[in-house]
Amino acid sequence: MAEGPGAVIPAQTKKTVTDNLKRVQDRIAEAAGRSKRTADDITLVAVTKTVELPVIRLLIEQGMRHFGENRVQQMVQRAAIMHEQYERRRTLGEGQSAPDDICWHMIGHLQRNKVGMMLPWIHMVHSVDSLRLAEEIAERGKKLGLPPIQILIQVNITEEPQKYGIPPAAALYLVEQLTTVEGITVVGLMAMGEATDDPETCRPYFARMYELFEEIRYEGVAGPHFRHLSMGMTQDYTIAIEEGATMVRVGSALFESEAE
Ligand SMILES: *Cc1c(COP(=O)(O)O)cnc(C)c1O
Repeated sequence: MAEGPGAVIPAQTKKTVTDNLKRVQDRIAEAAGRSKRTADDITLVAVTKTVELPVIRLLIEQGMRHFGENRVQQMVQRAAIMHEQYERRRTLGEGQSAPDDICWHMIGHLQRNKVGMMLPWIHMVHSVDSLRLAEEIAERGKKLGLPPIQILIQVNITEEPQKYGIPPAAALYLVEQLTTVEGITVVGLMAMGEATDDPETCRPYFARMYELFEEIRYEGVAGPHFRHLSMGMTQDYTIAIEEGATMVRVGSALFESEAE
């Protein structure tokens, strides 16, 4: 699919994505209701790693503002292109169709040597899982003169050895350590369930994450900014919300046609 500003997307793709977005938003609202909250309490991050820019633009037209990518290079490229296109539109007086409040989320494993190129474009980093990485983000951010970078601590709640994230038992201590680091603000926790055919198997993990999140809040070490719990993807986002997620990261459910 072409990436140029004039690129159009096929009518069928447009319909699929539009219908999917509506369905995901409805399901989010229902799940929020079941956990005594409303849709406004949940941030939907559209994970756009598998789609092209015209599809991202379509979502923006439909009011979406939060986008997640798992590779730094792709995120930076996309953020820069969108920024330039929208700047141009604003210069031409077409500002209504060129929002300046698009938020890019880094959700994938992050190498320290990529931090510098990412920071100017980033709204929130979901995948911080070491003191060294957090310190690198803080140092680079300060050098670039940026306000404190919002980070989430990634917890390996399923404790699978091949997965990124710190062990749950280490979360409180890491958050505590990071509160004294200038240049970052720890705004919450992030986790993934396990890949499964039965998403109910993820519920206990999400419940444990919520307990951990509450424990850290109760300890008062992280301050009022510590209020995000990023968990749940296509297979399990409604369950994650029922268990207390404030932010879900959804890709396939937005972009693939329903198999039913
Ligand atoms: C790809 C990805 C998602 C979204 O996955 P879907 O199953 O397509 O919804 C969420 N979180 C992370 C960390 C991802 O890499």
